[in-house]
Amino acid sequence: MDRILVVVNKLQEVFSIVGAESLQLPQIVVVGAQSSGKSSVLESLVGRSFLPRGTGVVTRRPLILQLLQCEKEDSGDWAVFSHMKDKLFTDFEEVRKEVEAETERKAGANMGICSEPIILKIYSDRLLNLTMVDLPGLTKVPVGDQPPDVETMVRELVLKYVENPNSIILALVTANTDMVTSESLKLAREVDPRGERTLAVVTKLDLMDAGTDATDILCGRVIPVRLGIVGVVNRSHKDFQEGKSIKDAITDEAIFLHKKYPTIASRHGTAYLARKLQSLLLNHIKNCLPELKSRVNSSLAHYQTTLFSFGKPVDNPNQALLEILAKFAGAYCSTIQGNYKDLEMKELG
Ligand code: GDP
Ligand code: MG
Repeated sequence: MDRILVVVNKLQEVFSIVGAESLQLPQIVVVGAQSSGKSSVLESLVGRSFLPRGTGVVTRRPLILQLLQCEKEDSGDWAVFSHMKDKLFTDFEEVRKEVEAETERKAGANMGICSEPIILKIYSDRLLNLTMVDLPGLTKVPVGDQPPDVETMVRELVLKYVENPNSIILALVTANTDMVTSESLKLAREVDPRGERTLAVVTKLDLMDAGTDATDILCGRVIPVRLGIVGVVNRSHKDFQEGKSIKDAITDEAIFLHKKYPTIASRHGTAYLARKLQSLLLNHIKNCLPELKSRVNSSLAHYQTTLFSFGKPVDNPNQALLEILAKFAGAYCSTIQGNYKDLEMKELG
């Protein structure tokens, strides 16, 4: 994200000088079936472990994650929840526990789903000002306290986020299920029929049946996706239990991809996904540039007019001051003379 960070920072600097509204980056929304790896993909992109994860219904409320760039702090990254503004979290294990606790407060303990989002801000010097949204998984059969119409409820909830034209949809498909029946791609196509803001992510490449492989899917021969299809391997349940870091998982993912898919490995994996997103964001900025340029130009014209209204530039301040004093003195004398003449006329009259 470094290159885009530099571009965005420069633009924000220009906007703060001209007092214009800052650049709005698109929000990244992750959509997929339950346990397809949505939270895992988000965590890998942020480079931190802080989300509840596991098998079953885990993400039960939308999580709006606002990444905010800040000056380098010795204390490292920190997080703040909107429902608990006074508490500053520096331990991300505690952030995970609070997401779980806040989910239970509104959605109950028994797999219920609630549409009210949890809003979490993460401040770091290595992040872009960007919003990412983690959503409950698309589901079919109600479990626990879920209402009978849970399928429609989650669908509507997800639609609310992906309909936003300023969102990039990461449509997740698992490698060990049939891509053709993928609900996430179907839903993405409904709101983005031309595929201009949908990127497909194939997770769990490591869990495919022996003897099968995902080459056809990854090359877009099963379902073509205009912006591309990126295969990834996230941390498994066992990896979490063993405390595997995101960094190690990304190294192992690269080894896996080069061994299993040597000819296409360079276009897959978490690092490639991050680069792909980066180029989508840069494209977005490029598309915004003409409008931003005209905003800067109109500010420039406005300030230039104001500047010209102050008169000619001054080369020698002392000389200029003397000139102003002389002018003032001249004007003052003629006023006095005028007044004196008026007085004389009155007296004579
Ligand atoms: P979500 O419900 O879509 O948010 O899915 P999670 O990110 O919570 O993942 C569900 C489970 O699948 C967790 O136990 C993850 O460890 C596991 N998982 C996710 N992605 C992969 C993957 O690529 N490979 C393997 N082996 N497990 C994965
Ligand atoms: Mg999840």
